[in-house]
Amino acid sequence: MLIVNAEVDGVRLDVRFQDKILELSSSIQPAPGESVIDAQGGALLPGLHDHHMHFLATAAWANSVDCGAVDITGPDELGRLLRQQTGSGWLRGVNYHESIAGELQVRALDELADNRPVRIQHRSGKAWMLNSAAIELLQLQQYADIDGVEVDSSGAVTGRLFRLDGWLRERLSADLTSDISSLSRQLSSYGVTGFTDTSATNSQQTAQLFAQWQSDGVLQQDVLLMGDDSLHAGPLKVILDEDSLPDLENLVVRLQRARNRGRSIAFHCVSHLELLFALTALEQVPADSRDRIEHAAIVYDEMLPRLKQRGISVVTQPGFLWQRGDQYLKDLEPREIEVLYRHRALLEAGVNTVVSSDGPYGPVNPWKVMDAASRRTTQSGTTIGGQERVSPDHSLRGYLLNAHGLKEPARETRVGANADLCLLQLPWCEAKKQVANVKVQATIRSGAVTHRLP
Ligand SMILES: [Zn+2]
Repeated sequence: MLIVNAEVDGVRLDVRFQDKILELSSSIQPAPGESVIDAQGGALLPGLHDHHMHFLATAAWANSVDCGAVDITGPDELGRLLRQQTGSGWLRGVNYHESIAGELQVRALDELADNRPVRIQHRSGKAWMLNSAAIELLQLQQYADIDGVEVDSSGAVTGRLFRLDGWLRERLSADLTSDISSLSRQLSSYGVTGFTDTSATNSQQTAQLFAQWQSDGVLQQDVLLMGDDSLHAGPLKVILDEDSLPDLENLVVRLQRARNRGRSIAFHCVSHLELLFALTALEQVPADSRDRIEHAAIVYDEMLPRLKQRGISVVTQPGFLWQRGDQYLKDLEPREIEVLYRHRALLEAGVNTVVSSDGPYGPVNPWKVMDAASRRTTQSGTTIGGQERVSPDHSLRGYLLNAHGLKEPARETRVGANADLCLLQLPWCEAKKQVANVKVQATIRSGAVTHRLP
């Protein structure tokens, strides 16, 4: 396959590839029958890798009704929201809380919507609530004795399921497959050819599922999984919560065990205390330059040299400044706002820092993330940490770094490289002026077209 008239690092070139890039030159004649894309001067980049997202949660949210949206304040609004959804088959709601319409058992939910099977997830992720049509479709009464299926005093199921996500996933696999494939296509439309799934619950079993979806062609991206102790490869993900920090000694044993298996370590750190704790723990095991801090939402100056000394990378999410910035301004103290989602200061201290989405919690579109990193404005237009801005060129480079090491050299469009490509509509010098609006003409993964604008 051939792409002609592409801009590669500022130069007009034609590119021939199969699963690898075969030829790169100012003029390549198409072979008989060879398919050709005319780039019309658009920039040809390596495919983008989103270094932090939760793929399955994003897939689930993308096709769900947000029952916790600000304008849903009671049962009337919730019922209206559910009934106004078009389509047939499963209707899925997320982000529900009792403050909206109380404990939703089957009868209450039927009153809100009984025209199609409905399942609603509690905001905590712990429970699902089903209406009668959903109970019937799942033949839930047959499973009344399973742990987590709630029954009333007569033994009838109430429609509430607790911690049965795995069980539901098995029963709704067709539904899940279509969510996965539509999110995967959406990512391809942004030029994303790979992502790191950072969910702490990812296990060796999850790894097998992802591999299956890739071989079935449902999932078009490369995946690096981080996750729990059972994973054979990829970073060990450690979630810290400053209100219930784990025992340090036990944690160090766990980190050492991961190290012995050749694994790197990724710490979820939002607060200063969490970052301090993570570094204290990491400093007791041998260094690994692939180790990473996820979020690093609050970084005081005193932490910069310690991060630098460990050679650790920070995986940050400037998209939150846009998405949640106004809330941060209300909730956080001024001294925290000053050091919120720092970026330039980390770079200047010599700490490798890359951007990512944290989908579904932040915007998934990488071009919007790059825009957020260069503006750092909230939705109401307030700037947070203007001195921390970085250019779209810098953010883009992060998307081209190797998924596991996160270090230079970045991937390049050169002969012998994998044909994972992202073709923009415009040359980069034009595209980056309005980076939030970048349009991707075509995306190619391992030589196959996974997205093409009509
Ligand atoms: Zn995350």
